[in-house]
Amino acid sequence: MRQYSPLTIIFYIIGPILIIFSHFGSLLVFKTGLSWGAIVWIVFLYLIRMLGTTGIYHRLLTHKSYQAPALFLWLGCIVTASAGQMGPSWWKAHHMNHHQHSDKELDGHSPNTRFQGIRAFYWSQGGWLLSSEFFPAKLPRDVENDKVLKVIDRLHFVPVLSLAALSYFIGGMEYLGAFFFSTTLLFHGVQTVNSLSHIVGDRPFITNEFSRNNAFVAFLTLGEGWHNLHHAFQSSSRHGITIRSGRVVYLPDPTYSFIKALEFLGLASKLRMPTETDLLARSQCSFEHSELPVPVETSIVSVYE
Ligand SMILES: [Zn+2]
Ligand SMILES: [Zn+2]
Repeated sequence: MRQYSPLTIIFYIIGPILIIFSHFGSLLVFKTGLSWGAIVWIVFLYLIRMLGTTGIYHRLLTHKSYQAPALFLWLGCIVTASAGQMGPSWWKAHHMNHHQHSDKELDGHSPNTRFQGIRAFYWSQGGWLLSSEFFPAKLPRDVENDKVLKVIDRLHFVPVLSLAALSYFIGGMEYLGAFFFSTTLLFHGVQTVNSLSHIVGDRPFITNEFSRNNAFVAFLTLGEGWHNLHHAFQSSSRHGITIRSGRVVYLPDPTYSFIKALEFLGLASKLRMPTETDLLARSQCSFEHSELPVPVETSIVSVYE
């Protein structure tokens, strides 16, 4: 933590405090009840902010699986920060670390290293945020060099509080409770990628960790649950891909559909995608009778100094 200023430490710690507060705030919906309008608000906030997390923070900011204008990235990061997902530097730092050390000792939220059973699930589902693992060892220099992204990163809690205020302005305590409820659901939805997608599901592709394709997680996270494909081809803008009976099969991936819509609108370009030859060469069935060594992911490059 030596590289962090006292102010940055305080600003970062506000993140988990807001998430804990959001859990308790969700209980408001039991007091106020939920109108259809409030239910629509919950679903709308969940979908738009999940797309921000998956389509902006993960596939654009972290993996650069497509290109987009800087203004779109900045606005997308503000929307995503309003989900209580922390800021772009913090998020990318943790996720790059996850890919560099997946299911190894230095993986901050693996369910397969330091604990077993329900404790391992709790750890990967959010417990790690309440430990020293919360502070990234290093921040990504490309994000830190972008002054706008750096400001969004340190002031990540401002969009959260602004959206809470907007919710209250729209519909009083009922909509404020709906905001908390949506934020809490979203938090746990995102965390299932760290937990369930490294525990339960199939592994159609050869990787050197325990990532899984999990349809339930893909449903909750608009396509991110196809996590084994993602670990095998980290720069792919499409995650919903598997291999069945030696053939490439495409799976529902709403985040990829979102990116395609952005492309149609001229906001996304240069979408990256493995060829079917690459996919089949990396599939489990191609190695069943092969003496070839297990391939190691090489597509991720260090963004740290
Ligand atoms: Zn993973
Ligand atoms: Zn990733």
